[in-house]
Amino acid sequence: MEVWYFDVRRDRRPIGDPSLAEKRGVVMKSSSDLSLSRRRFCLCCVGGAAYAATAGWLTPRQAFAEARGLVSLIKDSAAASPITTYKLRNNISVLEGSGGNIAALTGPDGKVMVDAGIGVSRARLTQALAALGAEPITHLINTHWHFDHADGNEWLHSAGAKIIAQDNTRKHLSEIQRVEDWDYNFLPAAGGAIPSEVFAKDHSLKLNGASIGLRYYGPAHTDSDISVTFAEANVVHVGDTFWNGIYPFIDYSTGGSIDGMIAASDANLAAVTNDTIIIPGHGRPVSNKAELQAFRDMLVAIRDNVARLKQQGRTRDEAVAAKPTAAFDAIWGQFVIDPGFFTRLVYEGV
Ligand SMILES: [Zn+2]
Repeated sequence: MEVWYFDVRRDRRPIGDPSLAEKRGVVMKSSSDLSLSRRRFCLCCVGGAAYAATAGWLTPRQAFAEARGLVSLIKDSAAASPITTYKLRNNISVLEGSGGNIAALTGPDGKVMVDAGIGVSRARLTQALAALGAEPITHLINTHWHFDHADGNEWLHSAGAKIIAQDNTRKHLSEIQRVEDWDYNFLPAAGGAIPSEVFAKDHSLKLNGASIGLRYYGPAHTDSDISVTFAEANVVHVGDTFWNGIYPFIDYSTGGSIDGMIAASDANLAAVTNDTIIIPGHGRPVSNKAELQAFRDMLVAIRDNVARLKQQGRTRDEAVAAKPTAAFDAIWGQFVIDPGFFTRLVYEGV
């Protein structure tokens, strides 16, 4: 039997000694067993990639059917995805098409990026970034540790970027990290991909004339999430604390919870005005306070519905069968995190 291990940062490759891989906590699959079950499907990562590849939402059924293998799906989707650039204001743009939404600030101090996308997008991202200006990439900020936001760290570091993140992002990228709801073990990132400048609560930068504020949410979507605010432009990247128009993934394995997501949404709402441009981690990349408010209200309503069912003694499957998300599914349930999966995520935290 041919044995592969999945290293999402370096593609899958054969290894000679399965016991060694097991010791390292590596996910191993035989090459004849590459069709992944739902639980082996990396929802957070694949969503954005699959969306971009098809220029439209994949239904969960389509997405799972196409999940021939986690790494190959992500890689193929991201590699085939065009990068779409939206120019916002004060030399800030958002780039869509490689995992999570990426922000870029240009100017004489060099390009400052918020999130790195997926490594296989390097050529297309390089091209999209070059179209914004000739200056080198000097800084990269990670909103949190997830693969679809930090997989490009390695090439961006080699291109000259200093990587900045919250303490827990460095911790998770430095260790073998299991995400239970993906049934997946991530290997430690290569040395250059590890953030070299970290902070606990707040951090500020002054680059290209912009005051850039980095703020830790506390436990939210993970335990490593930060917002990145460009004060003069009134633009904020809120990472995966906000999925615009789609149910979010919540990573309980590294400290996320439904209550943490709601607390982060409240913090986001308190920090913005009607003129603020909000960049969500996933979903339509240029957003606003009204859409953020709708996301927060959806989270609260579904949490309350699911909590009521759990208090009545319903099991998780019974709670899913009761369809506590029904009023929201037509709008929010059209993506990879389908109503049943989202109900299970909420149930875990109430
Ligand atoms: Zn994430």
